[in-house]
Amino acid sequence: MKFLFTDLDGTFLGGTRQDQLRLLQAIESSGIGLVYVSGRGHQRIFPAIDSNELARPNAVIGDVGTSLWNGRGEAFSQDYESLVSARWGDGQHLLREQLKEFLNQGLSEQPIFGPRRYSLYYDSPAMAKHAAQRIEALGFDSLISDNQYLDALPRGVNKGFAVSWLMAHWGLTASQVLLAGDTLNDLAMLSLPLPAVVVANAETALKEALLSRNDNPGLMFASQDGAAGIHESLKQLGWL
Ligand SMILES: [Mg+2]
Repeated sequence: MKFLFTDLDGTFLGGTRQDQLRLLQAIESSGIGLVYVSGRGHQRIFPAIDSNELARPNAVIGDVGTSLWNGRGEAFSQDYESLVSARWGDGQHLLREQLKEFLNQGLSEQPIFGPRRYSLYYDSPAMAKHAAQRIEALGFDSLISDNQYLDALPRGVNKGFAVSWLMAHWGLTASQVLLAGDTLNDLAMLSLPLPAVVVANAETALKEALLSRNDNPGLMFASQDGAAGIHESLKQLGWL
C-alpha cells in the first residue's frame, strides 16, 4: 500500500476547495493511504475529522512530530510516546520559566499545544532568534516557521523523526511514500531521502533551505499550490 504523508495548512488544505476535493477523490479511488503531519494539536485536528471537514486518515502525526495518533484520535503507540517523553523530560515547565523574560517582548505563548513541546508566537524575528538560542542552550531543538511560530521540541524530534518512526513501524519503503509540505517545520521531513513535494505556495525560506541543502534527490517542486501541487506530484510518480 502507498501512503501520502502530508502537512495540512497550506499543503493538503492549500489551493482551492475544488483542488482539495479532486485530490481527495483521486486518493480514495486509487486506494492511497493518508497520514496527516501537522503542527496542529489534537484539538485542532480531530474535531475537523469528526465533522467530515477533513477525511479520516490512517494516522496523524501532530504537534510538529511530538504526538502520534491513530485515525480515531487515540494514542498510536506507547513506545512512541515514551521515546519522545524521555527526550522532553520536564521541558515545558523548564522552558516556561527560562523564557519568561521574552514574553511581552514580541513573543507570546500559543494558547493550546501538546504535552511534549513548548510553543510561542513571535512578531519580532530578532527576539525569536534570541529565544531560539536560549532554547538550544537548554538542550532542546528550536524551530522557527511560517514567520510566526517558534517551537521548542525534544532534541532530534520533528516531523521527519516521526515520519521515519512510522515508516519503520509499518515496514514502508521509499517507493511507498510521498511527503508534502509548505513551511520550515516541514524541512526535516522533506530532507529525508524519500519522494517528496514542496508545493508552489511554500514559504520562500523553505524553498531556499531545500535548494541549498540539495540532499534529497526525490524532492519535487510543484508548479501548483497546495492540493493541486500534490495531485501533480502523484501523477508524476505514476500513482494516479
Ligand atoms: Mg503548512
